[in-house]
Amino acid sequence: MNETMQKYESYIITSFVKAIQPIVIEKASGATVTDVEGRKYIDCFAGISVVNAGHCHPAVVAAAREQMEKLIHCGSYIYYSQPIADLAEKLAQITPGNLKKSFFANSGAEAIEGALKLAKLYTGKHEIIALRGSFHGRTLGTLSVTGNSGRKRRGGPYSPGVAFAPTPYRFRSRAATSDYAQDMEDIIRLSTSGDVAAFIAEPVLGEGGIIVPPLDYFVEIKKVLDRHNILFIADEVQSGFGRTGKMFAIEHYGVEPDILVTAKGIADGFPVAAFTTRDEIASSFQPGDHLSTFGGNPVCCAAALANIEVLERENLCENARLHGKYMMDELKMLQTNFPIIGDVRGLGLMIGIEMIGGPDFKPAPNHAEVIRTSCLKRGVLVGVGGIYGNVVRIQPPLVISKQQIDSVLAVITEAVEVAENTQVAV
Ligand code: PLP
Repeated sequence: MNETMQKYESYIITSFVKAIQPIVIEKASGATVTDVEGRKYIDCFAGISVVNAGHCHPAVVAAAREQMEKLIHCGSYIYYSQPIADLAEKLAQITPGNLKKSFFANSGAEAIEGALKLAKLYTGKHEIIALRGSFHGRTLGTLSVTGNSGRKRRGGPYSPGVAFAPTPYRFRSRAATSDYAQDMEDIIRLSTSGDVAAFIAEPVLGEGGIIVPPLDYFVEIKKVLDRHNILFIADEVQSGFGRTGKMFAIEHYGVEPDILVTAKGIADGFPVAAFTTRDEIASSFQPGDHLSTFGGNPVCCAAALANIEVLERENLCENARLHGKYMMDELKMLQTNFPIIGDVRGLGLMIGIEMIGGPDFKPAPNHAEVIRTSCLKRGVLVGVGGIYGNVVRIQPPLVISKQQIDSVLAVITEAVEVAENTQVAV
C-alpha cells in the first residue's frame, strides 16, 4: 500500500473502499489514464461516465483557466455573471422542444432534488413515481426515489409518498410496453393517493445495469402521465451529453420531458449540474424558493460551455453512435462463444454486459468482478453495476479511437475467458 492509499485508509470516509481500484491515478488525457507508476490504462468508465469529451480536453482546460484568472466565484444567484448566462442559453438551444430555463447546482443528486421540488410546486401535488432498479443519487431525497433497495438498505427512513413502477428490463421480463403503460395507470390509481406530481426516470438506467427501455416506452408512459397531469422528469445525469449517440438519450424516444436533469458529462469533469424546464414550470419558483451558493460557478459554467462546443465541433455524438455500434456488434459475437454472457445491450457508448451463471440466467456478480479485475491488470478500466451487481459497464470518453476499442475488445475477451475458468459460487 503506497502513501496515497494509506492516507485514504486513515483520513477519508470511503464507504466504497471495497470497490476502489488499487491504482493511484496521476494524470489523464483523452481516453487514457496514467497512474503514479507511469502505467497507462484505456479508460472505459470515464470517471463514472463523466469525461465525455475526453480527459483534460485542451479547450475545456483553456476556458476554465481563462475564467479562473478573471473570476472564480461571486454567488451567481446573488450577482449576474456572464458564464452562467451563456451556459443557460446554450442548454436552451440543445435540450429538446420548449425546455428553456435552467437552474444550476453542483451534483446530480442536488439537481434531482431541485427538480422534484419544482415539480411539486408547479403541480401543487406531492407524490412521486419512480422506477424499480433506478438510481437518482445519495441524498435522502434522491434515495427516496431510488428504486434499488440495495443502495438504501441503511440510512433511512426515507421520504414517504413514493411509488415504484416496474423496470422495463427486457432481458428479465417479457412484459410489453402496453403492460408497462397499464401498470402505470394502475399504480397511479391504486398505489398512490392520486396526488402524484411527477414520474422520474432515467432514459437509460445506468447504475441499474444499462437497461434500455423499449423505444415506444416513454411515448406510451407520457400519454398516461398527461392524462393525470403528472410531470415527466428525465434524469439524464448519466445518459446526457452525447453518451448514447444523441445529445440527450430521451431524443431516441421522441418525447419531450417536462424537466430534464443533467450533470456528469456537462462539463468534462467540472462539478456542475442543471435542471432545465419550460418557462411556465420554471415560474413556479417564487423569490427565495431555491438557491445554491456554488451553483452556477463561473469557472464550471465556462468549462461546461467549452465542453458542449467540443461535443458539437468534434461530432462526438456521432462518434458515440458509430463506435458504440461497432463495440456492441463485436461483444454480441463474443456472447455467442461464452454462455456466461447473458446479454449485451446499450445505446451509443453506454454499454452493459450482463453476466450470468449459465442457462438458468442466474445473475453472476462474481464474474463481473473477475472481469473488472482482469481488465485492470491488462490496462483497461471498466465499471460494474446492475441491480444484481452483475453488469460490466463500458462507458468510455466519446473520443475513444477505433484502435483503442480494438485493444479493449481483446482485453475483455481474455477477461471473460478468465471469468469462465474461475470457479465461483454464483
Ligand atoms: N442520477 C443518475 C442517473 C446517476 O447515475 C447519478 C450518479 O451516478 C446521480 C443521479 C447522482 O449524481 P451525483 O453523484 O453527481 O450526485
